[in-house]
Amino acid sequence: MTFKASVLTLYPEMFPGALGLSLAGRALEAGTWSLEAIQIRDFATDRHRTVDDTPAGGGAGMVMRADVLAKAIDHASPEGDARPRLLMSPRGKPLRQARVRELAAGPGAVILCGRFEGVDQRLIEARGLEEVSIGDFILSGGEPAALVLLDAVVRLLPGVMGNAVSGEEESFENGLLEHPHYTRPQEFEGREIPEVLISGNHKKIAAWRRAASEALTQERRPDLPGAQPLLE
Ligand code: SAH
Repeated sequence: MTFKASVLTLYPEMFPGALGLSLAGRALEAGTWSLEAIQIRDFATDRHRTVDDTPAGGGAGMVMRADVLAKAIDHASPEGDARPRLLMSPRGKPLRQARVRELAAGPGAVILCGRFEGVDQRLIEARGLEEVSIGDFILSGGEPAALVLLDAVVRLLPGVMGNAVSGEEESFENGLLEHPHYTRPQEFEGREIPEVLISGNHKKIAAWRRAASEALTQERRPDLPGAQPLLE
């Protein structure tokens, strides 16, 4: 049950990149997931291997061609492939942990990385691409966004994280931001670890962490489901 990632890109050298190291890298070596980076340019049909052209209606920049991208997608994801087809895009639905979990529970993903001004709209419609954004900012290309998405997914695959419990207590899993962490030394530049955390009283520790989590969420992310209104 290998999670299979196929990434369509003009820069296959960017993969596996950071995902070849640490947890994700070990899981890749162990066969928990697989990654193929496909060069979009290999599907161009003209002598110059053109993948983009000027925007219809005029304006700055270039647009990736629907015909070339369709060939690349059909090669990577022939009919019957059950994997979702994603397009990394600032116009997409913001990526959330819930979607990351769904993806990790599935067979894999086909991920198209945009460049230039983006891709021809007809390609998005014709191949049923799900547009996914990693945040309200503009990257120069979809590759770092694909790496971010895959990093989030791969760490959830069975056996990748040593301590499975730590995955479930993290920020966003329960609609809250995580509580602060401390470790030795007991005193750092005059700052002590909160008493309760060294009390050994697990009930009190859990209550303290919960309260810290809620306070932090109210302050920083009142939009999260776990943020309780301070005053009704
Ligand atoms: N002209 C576009 C931006 C193009 S940026 C616009 O204004 O919406 C070039 C490529 O980088 C995009 O096609 C997309 O694949 C990728 N990209 C940029 N920002 C991104 C983001 N926040 N999330 C996911 N992908 C992004």
